[in-house]
Amino acid sequence: MTNVDVIEKFLRYVRIDTQSDDSFDTSPSTMKQHDLAQLLCREMTELGVSDVYYDKEHCYVYGSIPATEGFENAPAIGFISHMDTSDEVSGKDVKPRIVKDYQGTDIVLNESEKVVLSPKDFPELLNHKGEDLIVTDGTTLLGADDKAGISEIMAMAETLLSDPGISHGPIKIAFTPDEEIGRGTEHFNIERFGAQYAYTVDGGKLGELEYENFNAAEGIIRVQGRSVHPGDAKNKMVNASLICYEFQSLLPVFQNPMYTEGREGFFHLTEIQGSTESATASYIIRDHDDHLFDEKIRIFKAAGEFLNQKYGDGTVTVTVREQYRNMIEKIRPHMHLVDNAKKVMTDLGITPIDNPIRGGTDGAALSYKGLPCPNLCTGGYNYHGKYEYASVQEMRRVVEILLGIVSIYSK
Ligand SMILES: [Zn+2]
Repeated sequence: MTNVDVIEKFLRYVRIDTQSDDSFDTSPSTMKQHDLAQLLCREMTELGVSDVYYDKEHCYVYGSIPATEGFENAPAIGFISHMDTSDEVSGKDVKPRIVKDYQGTDIVLNESEKVVLSPKDFPELLNHKGEDLIVTDGTTLLGADDKAGISEIMAMAETLLSDPGISHGPIKIAFTPDEEIGRGTEHFNIERFGAQYAYTVDGGKLGELEYENFNAAEGIIRVQGRSVHPGDAKNKMVNASLICYEFQSLLPVFQNPMYTEGREGFFHLTEIQGSTESATASYIIRDHDDHLFDEKIRIFKAAGEFLNQKYGDGTVTVTVREQYRNMIEKIRPHMHLVDNAKKVMTDLGITPIDNPIRGGTDGAALSYKGLPCPNLCTGGYNYHGKYEYASVQEMRRVVEILLGIVSIYSK
């Protein structure tokens, strides 16, 4: 390894506020994401990255590193990270601090506000004894999600460009806005990007490798009741709110987020409002397995049909809208993406961890747009909050993983 410093890059990027905001319909949702995009464009150009392209309208940054001589026919491998941070906790005036040689004790993030990062609340901290941890000052998030990924990709690029001794195929790089609000791939230009396969670098714990996510649908129930004065409602009133309640009771009780984990799917009631006259309930339906997902949608619709048989046609209207699909279907024909990443990790002495995502990723959307795209770890933890931290040593190892993937695809 050369002396490329991933941490110095990280500390620079997290100081730039790039919080996205769901309440704006523009793309990007917030103009401040351009601040980091501009810096990255400048740095990429300085490093010697080719074809640096900045989509100024939608705030996407692209670049490539041409193959070294004799490796032009290797597949073009892409690496993608997102520039925005979560809208849940502020990312303004982030003051990162490095706790050297962590010994498993409490880390006081903020004395006056009594914010303490403790192994009592986060037992996995104990896995980091002896490492240097980058933490917040307890008033903001850190932004390792996903500036850890960005710095690792930039460190990989710098290493490749500064060491002519490393042979490699064509490499593509992209940084995207608005991932946290689910709009990260809306204006992603796959043709311009030019990769045959890609990885998002947006996971957590060292070794994590994600290539399965939920199949997802949204289900909406509209109930038309009949409001009548309760004094003479007998055999006349139809209470829409109670029918909503009945609808929920027809769904499998334990297929609920409160009772599920791993690859177990669920129905989740996200919102409900109603009166006697009318009521509406919104659900999200999730399952990793295609068949179980279809089965859930069947059960959901059948509950509506049953209530219509009971109370009369037109009482309940069920609408189901598909949101995203499990990327595994698109990864399976290209399992080398998973196998190679695992081989690289194992060769580096890192244990690969298969982690089915209980949500979606930008990589899932890209996989369905024709760019198969599993997700790699970053070495960041406790995303979206003040307790977010990153391990210096793990981040350095992720750079080695990226370089290992580059190397394996040039063979
Ligand atoms: Zn992320």
